[in-house]
Amino acid sequence: MKLGIADRARRTGEWLKCKFVSGGMVLLYHRVADLASDPQLLAVKPQNFAEHLEIVKRKCSPVSLKELVGGLKEKTLPEHPVAITFDDGYADNLASAQPLLRRYGVPATVFVTAGYVGSGREFWWDELERLILEPAFLPERFHLDRPNGGSLMWELGRNDLHKPDAYRSWNVQLSENSTPRHTLYRSLCELLRPLPEPSRVDVLEYIQKWAGAGSASRPTHLPLASEELKRLDQEELVEIGAHTCTHALLSNLSKTEQKKEVQGSKKVLEEILGHAVSSFAYPFGGRVDYTAETVEVVRQAGFELACANFPGTVWRRSDCFQLPRFLVRDWDGETFERWLSGLADG
Ligand SMILES: [Zn+2]
Repeated sequence: MKLGIADRARRTGEWLKCKFVSGGMVLLYHRVADLASDPQLLAVKPQNFAEHLEIVKRKCSPVSLKELVGGLKEKTLPEHPVAITFDDGYADNLASAQPLLRRYGVPATVFVTAGYVGSGREFWWDELERLILEPAFLPERFHLDRPNGGSLMWELGRNDLHKPDAYRSWNVQLSENSTPRHTLYRSLCELLRPLPEPSRVDVLEYIQKWAGAGSASRPTHLPLASEELKRLDQEELVEIGAHTCTHALLSNLSKTEQKKEVQGSKKVLEEILGHAVSSFAYPFGGRVDYTAETVEVVRQAGFELACANFPGTVWRRSDCFQLPRFLVRDWDGETFERWLSGLADG
């Protein structure tokens, strides 16, 4: 059955009711990749991302983050505005996301962790996966002197029967700890998250030696190299934003350290790109992961807007230094459409 224009307009109107009346949505992605395992649930498969873009294009009005914020204030936005963002700065944002953004003509902002650009190093949570969940064999006991004092001990027992299938679907948020290795991985994620970068690196190097896993990064898990970042920036649909230097937990840092992370990431990216960087996203981005002081530091650094990571619609009166975002998972088109529809109705 083919719907007439009036029917379609009515149906779309019904589909996207109240949430969009005077607000917009910001979607949060991290990676576009087809991975063997994804314990942090960061990747959306290319096919699924293409379906998301097709739906956003058909059902909403894709706009850039700056158009969304500026347009809400000026009341010049098209109906149902949706802005797409990426956090962290993975190389697949250029290799896999950019071609699809171009194909569908959808703009996006990519928030890049400046200190990882060109480092050839995996992000710490990925390196932890490589060291703890991937090796076929690990020693039976893990002992660690905590950087802030005290020590931790885990008994892994006989865990040398590596079962790829058991690991593949496991993730930190939805799965129970199914083996001692998963408990260890989860505990080390919690331990590393608040640490300053030098301590994180020390712990990771210690684990490397313990696991006998070496330091080689996986090509599938690299951050953007400098040249890749420049190429991504040349895409007119893409805006590059900053995401600190080391993916720091800003609420855990002194004001001076926060300034170093925030201003430093702006400076590094601007030097690579040769132009101003004016958007920022707080690492982790939950309400406890940054403070009022952080917001002030970001504002004073010369940024024009900043994204958080809690769900919500952006309104005309929203604080443009704490923009809410909806986290998107690896859903197929049908699930994504239902989810988006639920947000619009809710
Ligand atoms: Zn991040």
